[in-house]
Amino acid sequence: MSEQQLMAFYKEFLLEPFALELAVMQPCDIGCNYCFANLDGRRHKIAFSDMAEVLDVLANFKNGDSVEAQLLRLKYPVLMSNRVDPFGRRNRLSSIKILELFRDLDIRAGFQTKGFVNPEDFDTVMELIEPSWFYISIAFDPAHEFLCRKIEPGSISIRDRLALIPKLAERGHLVYVGVNPCVPDWIENPYAFLKQLKDSGVRGIFCSNLGLTRPQYNLMTATEKANLESLLQEIMGKRQAPQRHVDFLHYCIDSALELGLTVATGQIGISNEFWTPAMELYPRLFPLTTEFVNLCYRDMRQGSRISQSYFVEFIERRTPPGMRGLIGRYIRDSNPTICLKYTEWSDEMSYKDLAKIIWDNPESTFHPINYRCFSLLGEREDDTIVEVPDAGGSPIMIFNPEGMGGKPWGEAPRYYLAEG
Ligand code: SF4
Repeated sequence: MSEQQLMAFYKEFLLEPFALELAVMQPCDIGCNYCFANLDGRRHKIAFSDMAEVLDVLANFKNGDSVEAQLLRLKYPVLMSNRVDPFGRRNRLSSIKILELFRDLDIRAGFQTKGFVNPEDFDTVMELIEPSWFYISIAFDPAHEFLCRKIEPGSISIRDRLALIPKLAERGHLVYVGVNPCVPDWIENPYAFLKQLKDSGVRGIFCSNLGLTRPQYNLMTATEKANLESLLQEIMGKRQAPQRHVDFLHYCIDSALELGLTVATGQIGISNEFWTPAMELYPRLFPLTTEFVNLCYRDMRQGSRISQSYFVEFIERRTPPGMRGLIGRYIRDSNPTICLKYTEWSDEMSYKDLAKIIWDNPESTFHPINYRCFSLLGEREDDTIVEVPDAGGSPIMIFNPEGMGGKPWGEAPRYYLAEG
């Protein structure tokens, strides 16, 4: 099977719990103007998937030797999809076919979607799946329906997406909303909008600022650029999101938490139950750094030192049976370049080995230091602050939620001084 269709979801390792992703077809025909997946698809000229090939591999997953087949046998669910809407016009029939096969093979799925473009698909899909994780993407409030029609031309209306939420929640599905990208011009009254989500059965939100790279911008059509013109002027060429976007994101996070919604956003440093219901729903999911954050909030005090062994033990406890010797291959299959960075890398390594590599490389995107409630132990040396390692040369991390200044989106300083 081409890795473009059913693939290890490596890029989100320790950030998202789904180990596998299935993108039935590229590019997605919802055509959201800001969509990184569509723009990257144009850049890499990703081929449309071969359904026969997908179906063949799924049918033979019981004997296959690929990482994906082994993960399926271990009962890891499949995310549909981070790159394609499974229930869009172009993909809906393929998705239903896949879900029929999943049902027969006892494979579970989770869904990222902007809703069912064909309303009749709802009942068909509900017949095929057990209670599942649904992430409904809603970046506009109902007052901005007209703008949404321009920027997300193939999607169903905001009104219909909002109506879908209680229908899913009533059937026992876990419903989350991606207020993503989180753009001040697209939501008039965030508190009222989030309250509406909460009242209709949403458990939590994911939110993040709008961001596009220069290569992605260059691949946009003239219409897409025109639709997003003022926003593009604001964000392009900037290293960070504009302050008004950041302030808006923070206001949305504060409002959501006040309303009792859980929140996932880039490496948030608070105790966070966003993924807990999914962890209870599926037989297998990958470990998450947010679980580690929760553990620290439970077991540590402000200023507690966290050693490599504490992190390694956490990862080991969360290692599902059967993953031993698979994780190195899993990550290499999805992104070989990451492995070249670390001399200790081995395809046969255990989760414990991987956890040690992560811990000893704080610059790695997987490292818990990226979460805002942690600092590294440091000491002053002349005019600079240097890291203080343990006896084995590994970093020592400090639990430092006070460093965030009492704000869920605050950020502890990089170093916590040994004397402080
Ligand atoms: S629905 Fe999702 S995958 Fe499809 S274009 Fe929009 S953002 Fe991209």
